[in-house]
Amino acid sequence: MEKKEELKLYEEWDKRYFWHPFTQMKVYEEEENVIVERGEGVYIYDIYGNKYLDGVASLWCNVHGHNHPKLNQAVIEQTKKIAHFTTLGASNIPAIKFAKRIVDITPKKLQHVFYSEDGSEAMEIAIKIAYHYWHNKGEKEKNKFITLSEAYHGDTIGSVSVGGINIFHEKYKPLLFDVYKMPSPYLEAVKKVGREKALEYKTTKLLIEEVEDFVFHLHQEIAGFVLEAGVQGAAGILPFPEGYLKEIRRICDEYNILMIVDEVATGFGRSGKMFACEKEGVEPDIMALGKGITGGYLPLAATLVSDDIYKEFLGEFGEAKHFYHGHTYTGNPIACNVALANLDVFEEENTLEKLQPKIKLLEERLKEFWELKHVGDVRQFGFMAGVELVKDKEKNEPFPYGERTGFKVAKSMLKKGIWVRPLGDVMVIMPPLVIKEEELNYFIDSLKESIKELES
Ligand SMILES: *Cc1c(COP(=O)(O)O)cnc(C)c1O
Repeated sequence: MEKKEELKLYEEWDKRYFWHPFTQMKVYEEEENVIVERGEGVYIYDIYGNKYLDGVASLWCNVHGHNHPKLNQAVIEQTKKIAHFTTLGASNIPAIKFAKRIVDITPKKLQHVFYSEDGSEAMEIAIKIAYHYWHNKGEKEKNKFITLSEAYHGDTIGSVSVGGINIFHEKYKPLLFDVYKMPSPYLEAVKKVGREKALEYKTTKLLIEEVEDFVFHLHQEIAGFVLEAGVQGAAGILPFPEGYLKEIRRICDEYNILMIVDEVATGFGRSGKMFACEKEGVEPDIMALGKGITGGYLPLAATLVSDDIYKEFLGEFGEAKHFYHGHTYTGNPIACNVALANLDVFEEENTLEKLQPKIKLLEERLKEFWELKHVGDVRQFGFMAGVELVKDKEKNEPFPYGERTGFKVAKSMLKKGIWVRPLGDVMVIMPPLVIKEEELNYFIDSLKESIKELES
């Protein structure tokens, strides 16, 4: 078969057989799509050899770039030994080593690691553990969760139950368990001081009043408070006002509620610190990790818990106190070996140190977006940013949903050699942490230009 014909065939099969995630396949079928063949650093190459800057770090998980020799080596070395063996009642060295290493670098309170494969699972596990913990303690009435509006914790039914993004979650309502929902802190800050000042707004008694009042009355039935680690990513990069996490920690302590923090998007450097919790010195009782945990190489996730929680699951076998949960690939040695190499590369390449000036650069350059006619809000949290497109800035009127304005801008970015995936009409800036300053500048120049094209 001719090479070109072969590639056309793959395009056809892609549309016929492969049901893509978060994708309207009818529209996908009508479009030309990027089929990736390889990657190198912050770039990906499609099957025709076109080169694109990876503007969203492969959906927020790539850290040190694609095709990294050290990470490749970690996969190869472990594969030569064994690809997988169950960890139900057995163990393996990479999983043991990574458990120790991740406990060493996460907040002190977190002492035990439960592995899974994706962020959704890590959150699902967090919720099950919290519920089960109170059950084992004999406080069965503590079986409800507080969550935030605009939250995203994944797509499995339990994770959706604690989520708060209507367009993703509303349809499944009859399948979900009930939760108590508090307002999104960023949107509350906007209500109080407006969009332009919301990022500088600090958490005050006023912002936390509703939460505190609620907890005061209902804490007897609350098992845990579930929230992202400082920013609501999937909702369009909505950062918490400074001090919010700390206040929630205080409230959880005061009323005997487990604080369950989702660091799936923010963990492994994205916030500017290794973990976003460090920014406010907050120690959660349960923490979920995913995405960047393997540097974007393989599916691995982890749920970390405090010693206090872990101990409630200990008992004689007959007491049936243990955690009845596990997956086929729990603690996969190849994934854990890459996770170890990921941390090595952080040290060897001084990734976090080199990231700081780039966060500053991003902050400076983001200011330019406020001048654009169709930009209604600009938000940043560490090395992630969202630029919200609006039809009418004065009235804060969005573009009609069906028009796919964000997608149009993304198409224009593709022509400029940058692959991005917007969140609706929020343009996301989230390249691998290793992007160079000149590449980041090109990314921002191109995004400005593509947004300006909406004016004509
Ligand atoms: C991506 C994400 C998840 C879900 O992780 P998956 O690996 O996609 O299942 C959960 N929480 C947050 C904050 C995320 O960004």
